[in-house]
Amino acid sequence: RSKSAGRNCFTIYDEAMSAELEARNTLEGDLRDAIARCQLEVHYQPFMDANNGARRGFEALVRWRHPARGLIPPDQFIALAEETGLIVPLGEFVLRRACADAATWPSGLMVAVNLSPIQFKEADLFDVICAALRDSGLAPHRLEIEITESVLLERGAENHAFMERLKHLGIELALDDFGTGYSSLSYLTAFPFDKIKIDKSFIRNLTHQPRSSAIISSIVTLARGLDMSVTAEGVETSEEYERLKALGINFAQGYLFGRPQPVGQIDLDEPVQSSQRDAA
Ligand code: C2E
Ligand code: MG
Ligand code: MG
Ligand code: MG
Repeated sequence: RSKSAGRNCFTIYDEAMSAELEARNTLEGDLRDAIARCQLEVHYQPFMDANNGARRGFEALVRWRHPARGLIPPDQFIALAEETGLIVPLGEFVLRRACADAATWPSGLMVAVNLSPIQFKEADLFDVICAALRDSGLAPHRLEIEITESVLLERGAENHAFMERLKHLGIELALDDFGTGYSSLSYLTAFPFDKIKIDKSFIRNLTHQPRSSAIISSIVTLARGLDMSVTAEGVETSEEYERLKALGINFAQGYLFGRPQPVGQIDLDEPVQSSQRDAA
């Protein structure tokens, strides 16, 4: 009896597994087509200079316009793209699109592009970035590249050298989702970041958990000591924004200022901070 129950269990398990595998294969095939048929879209979310409330730039965030399933958010396909290697052409598409779009914006505005750790393993990533800048005409200091802590753990020495080359071009480097990974604080001192983006999970608890304030203020202190700036991600309320400003963050991003939107819908007329214009 128990044996047959066990077998049934296995059958169900197998069927669930193969259904999942099939769904995955379909999705992979669809994603491959999506890249070829230009069904990917780049949306833009503003980030603000917390010192004066002016918009400083936009983060490029990919979406998949699926013919049957509608607009699919990146959380549902980036991992698959990474597992299958499709992140390489996908990432190049986003980078090129973002540079080309930003080149048409007022020159005080930056564009931030997320790069996957998988892209860092490609020997020609540097050339791909240079080509995207050259073909778009975007000045390198207007491009910011966001990477996550996992890039620092693997191939640390190679990635460090690579980051130095990017910085040498004038590209800015941001450490994304800070606080969610496993890397120690010492990684921060070892890599040439310009900016730390504090993950939105810390912002969420801010107004009712004193501990979150303590964490954020230590990150701010640390960043200042290392000559890096700090962005708060996922700012949704003005209470959060006010608290974050009091804690000394430099930039803020979140639904309070705007959701990611297609390029045609972003408002470029908003005045750009004058000191940034002078600096450019
Ligand atoms: P991320 O780089 O940390 O981007 C910020 C995410 O937070 C975005 O989700 C954004 O829509 C969301 N967000 C912004 N403000 C708020 C807020 O106030 N509240 C809440 N709850 N969420 C907010 P999205 O667009 O779904 O992207 C998810 C992740 O997918 C990104 O996280 C990034 O890791 C990845 N991703 C997106 N585009 C690309 C890409 O082109 N290449 C790579 N490699 N990864 C990408
Ligand atoms: Mg990001
Ligand atoms: Mg993030
Ligand atoms: Mg992320």
